[in-house]
Amino acid sequence: MSEIAHHQKQFYYTEKTKSLAFRKERLQALKTMIETNEQRIMDALKTDLNKSEFDSYTHEIGFLYAEINFMLKEVKEWMKPTKVKTPASHFGSKSYIHKDPYGTCLIIAPWNYPFQLALAPVIGAIAAGNTIVLKPSELTPTVSSLLKQLVEEAFDPAFFTVFEGAVEETQQLLEQRFDLIFFTGSVPVGKIVMEKAAKHVTPVILELGGKSPVIVDEDAKLDVAAKRIAWGKYTNAGQTCIAPDYLYVHRNVKPELLSKLKDSIVEMYGKEPMQNETYTHIVNQKHFSRLSAYLDNGELVHGGQTNAEELIIEPTVLDHISWDDAIMKDEIFGPLLPVLTFDNLDDVITQVQTQEKPLALYYFSEDEQKQQTILDQLPFGGGCMNDTLFHVANPHLPFGGVGPSGLGSYHGKASFDAFTHQKSVVYQTTKFDFSFRYPGSKLGLSIV
Ligand code: NAD
Repeated sequence: MSEIAHHQKQFYYTEKTKSLAFRKERLQALKTMIETNEQRIMDALKTDLNKSEFDSYTHEIGFLYAEINFMLKEVKEWMKPTKVKTPASHFGSKSYIHKDPYGTCLIIAPWNYPFQLALAPVIGAIAAGNTIVLKPSELTPTVSSLLKQLVEEAFDPAFFTVFEGAVEETQQLLEQRFDLIFFTGSVPVGKIVMEKAAKHVTPVILELGGKSPVIVDEDAKLDVAAKRIAWGKYTNAGQTCIAPDYLYVHRNVKPELLSKLKDSIVEMYGKEPMQNETYTHIVNQKHFSRLSAYLDNGELVHGGQTNAEELIIEPTVLDHISWDDAIMKDEIFGPLLPVLTFDNLDDVITQVQTQEKPLALYYFSEDEQKQQTILDQLPFGGGCMNDTLFHVANPHLPFGGVGPSGLGSYHGKASFDAFTHQKSVVYQTTKFDFSFRYPGSKLGLSIV
């Protein structure tokens, strides 16, 4: 590990990674690597998570193409030094922000979108001119080993390499001195990463999780709300960092919304979702057991079936949930939707304010003033009005959390910025010098 980190540093200081041609060529190489292996990637995702080809293409492969294409189009402009204003006190000089790569970056990825979440930050790191060590998740071993193989075939390890491993290996990697650590995963592990980074004051970007609410008000359009909530919650069997974790619904529309929600689940996953071959499975036994234990919380109004052998949990809705229930204590990260009821939006705001700042928040209402109230009063990483998940797929929107749900952001220009140090430089004139800036000197200007 220390050897590869050392080689990468040496390679970085050759300055090769900094040219526009190198960045574009390597971005193109990454795209070609994915294009020529689409079927293998989809097969690996099927093996590890039973992801359908449709989901694998749209959520993992297609997302990466969009990011790479965006970078290829924009990187030339972004990497140029930016001239900024210079105050009168600096008369004679010019000021620029240079877009400096950090150097050698460590990227640590989770298992839920194991291909996309490993490579999306890599795109930003390449565009910004860095070298990369990538550590994929051990919980999706087929994708992890495929990533290693593909990257080995396509890239010089001094520029971009994959290290496989679990907790111990990741901890050893974190002992190395990197110039930036980009971590996607859980809040507790994010804290460990931050602690390790503190040793060398290494900058960190933390893409974490939390309990993201979806709030449905009494004036919401319920047909579309039900479809969009079902889609956001049960995509990838709820194993999505920005999935709506719990539903807060106005008492006056609850029966109708829940009825429409059940219809939407049946429309999307069929009457027998346990037999649906395109429905994603739970990643492993540990998570299956953790999720199954929540099934006796509240009152089961839809779903609830499980298959321990195949690690499947049906899309499930649990009503009459209170904040004291176990399911409301931690991020669920599975296909179980707890339902809380409200009479007054102010009560929801007060309650959500007592929770950790969530990664995402979704609010369904036709009332723009109430939308504004939500925006003004509730902190959250990002989200949607009248939709779920969609904000993640707009490259013009930085994606990230706030407080315990994350530190820093990426996607599109934000990815380039995440992997770029803004080096501020004043270019001073030597044609003249103001003597008044020096201690003990008299007012005056001297020609140098
Ligand atoms: P995790 O934190 O358990 O693991 C993430 C990575 O950290 C893995 O590569 C793993 O090997 C490594 N790791 C695990 N334990 C470690 C330890 N003790 N020391 C050092 N490294 C360790 O997360 P996960 O289970 O893979 O992913 C699920 C979590 O990630 C959820 O909380 C979810 O919300 C979050 N997530 C966030 C985003 C986002 O973009 N914000 C995206 C996906 C997932």
